[in-house]
Amino acid sequence: MNVKKKHRQGNAIQLIAHDDVKERCWDQIKALPGEPRCVICGLYGEYKCDETEYDICCLECKQTLSVK
Ligand SMILES: [Zn+2]
Repeated sequence: MNVKKKHRQGNAIQLIAHDDVKERCWDQIKALPGEPRCVICGLYGEYKCDETEYDICCLECKQTLSVK
């Protein structure tokens, strides 16, 4: 399961290993104005789903997205 991590400063995107990804929403922080938001729960969209290019905050939300 691949997600791309987005750095908060700058636009660099980097593929990261599964165990570096936040698994649940409650590990994620709230999005500040102008920052990407998770398409599922609205928290900070720290990652980008590889298949859909949607912003997501955690693996749980990615799975929710994949099921839809
Ligand atoms: Zn989320």
